[in-house]
Amino acid sequence: INLLAMSHFTFVLTTCATPPSAVSSYWSLMAPDGVRAPRAAPHKYPMVSMPEAVDVVLSRVVPLPPLQVPFTTALGLVLAHDVVAASPHPPFAASVMDGYAVRAEDCPGTLMVTGASRAGAPMPTRSGNGSVPGTFAAEGAGVRGELAPGEAAYITTGAPIPAGANAVVALESCDKLQSPFGAAVYVRDPVTLGAHIRPVGHDVAAGEVVVPAGQVVGPHEIGIVAMVGAASVSVHGRPKLAVLSTGDELVDLTLFAKASTSLTSDVAAATAAAAAGGQVYDANRPMLAAAAAAAGAEVMDLGVVADDPTALHAAVCDALRRGADVLVTSGGVSEGDRDYLKEVLLGNHGGGSVGGRGITGVIHFGRVMMKPGKPLTFAEVRHADGGSDAKGSGGDEGGGDGGGGGDGRTMLVFALPGNPVSAAVTFQLTVLPALRRLLGWRDPRLRRVHCVLGGGNLALDLERPEYHRATLHWTCRQGFDAAQRAGLGGAGWGA
Ligand code: AMP
Ligand code: MG
Repeated sequence: INLLAMSHFTFVLTTCATPPSAVSSYWSLMAPDGVRAPRAAPHKYPMVSMPEAVDVVLSRVVPLPPLQVPFTTALGLVLAHDVVAASPHPPFAASVMDGYAVRAEDCPGTLMVTGASRAGAPMPTRSGNGSVPGTFAAEGAGVRGELAPGEAAYITTGAPIPAGANAVVALESCDKLQSPFGAAVYVRDPVTLGAHIRPVGHDVAAGEVVVPAGQVVGPHEIGIVAMVGAASVSVHGRPKLAVLSTGDELVDLTLFAKASTSLTSDVAAATAAAAAGGQVYDANRPMLAAAAAAAGAEVMDLGVVADDPTALHAAVCDALRRGADVLVTSGGVSEGDRDYLKEVLLGNHGGGSVGGRGITGVIHFGRVMMKPGKPLTFAEVRHADGGSDAKGSGGDEGGGDGGGGGDGRTMLVFALPGNPVSAAVTFQLTVLPALRRLLGWRDPRLRRVHCVLGGGNLALDLERPEYHRATLHWTCRQGFDAAQRAGLGGAGWGA
């Protein structure tokens, strides 16, 4: 690896805007300019670059329509409309200390404690409580509505300031006294007007936008929304993502995870049998389902599907019927004689054997200039009898329209290569931005940072930019200062 290449490292973060101190990521490497492999032979699917692929994907995706949801279910969703405070917060002048509500002009001095205002139990107003003027209550009683000169009220944090008071003195700045007339307090120092009082609307003014449209709702947004009493919020919908794995060699481990008895011995026996039969566990479907759920999608598991065009066609129809906005598959999309998926997505394996309902589709790209991940395929499909044909749509039909049912609607399909690393990388680079756009993210593209590679040279592919797993280390002073390759060494490098 040479210095020119070193200066062109691009790291593609897998996370949100705020970088943690160390983050697993993928980074791409370009061979230096001027070094090019011989031209590839013409292919049915010309290779597009990854930036082109992302542009194509995003050109086919629009945010899901807004809907009103209970605020407690909005975590991870994107606000479609501003959340506006209907009333000020705090809605009343409130104490920020445990202490005594006083008239600043009376301090320092000895004050009679004539009532109490506690959080949730304000001092009753004079008109409402029938108090007897000239008598003084214990701190708990709270019988007088307005402080007269020389009076104080016991107050707790968050309690309304009694009428007549204009400051709060903290408990630790007073000495409690017992006078012949009842409870009293000695305030040692002068008190500033308004001290320790949060006035009405101090935190939020009435009509203020507390969380703007476009914001991803996180825990703190949930708290703010609750604070201003917005019981429901307008958000873009949650994308429905169907996931399946293809491959005759795949064993579905999730079937064992559901079984209740003798799990360990069952799995051990299955592992041995699988190895003998040339089979491996399906690693992609659980990974992709988890990645999709982590991105905010509602995941529908379509299981493992055999390398059989009829079965694949039925599975794609199933995803359409169940209203999936996105179908993510892995495997069966390369050049082998059991790789049927591209033809199935084009509708070239009709639905005669599955009840007469065919699908039709357009493949926007079928190969990407990347390593690993070259066979990555992006398509849109719909039922052939479900409205206008997706074929030849020329980019003017909105994908991911979010409609239910399946008829007449278009489903985005990401057919990822089966190699687990290829599947992981291609999901990250193309499916994640699509999910973010469906969710309503204003900027759905992945964050990029530049970083210097630590720990040894790499022999780069001369034609295709490479994507490697890496751990980025972040320091306050220098930002991202070193990347270490991560992952299982040579295992998993594929097409
Ligand atoms: P394919 O893309 O179908 O040609 O598969 C490429 C390689 O990835 C083969 O070695 C497959 O056995 C492996 N593979 C495909 N799908 C999966 C999967 N779901 N989990 C683990 N390995 C897989
Ligand atoms: Mg396969």
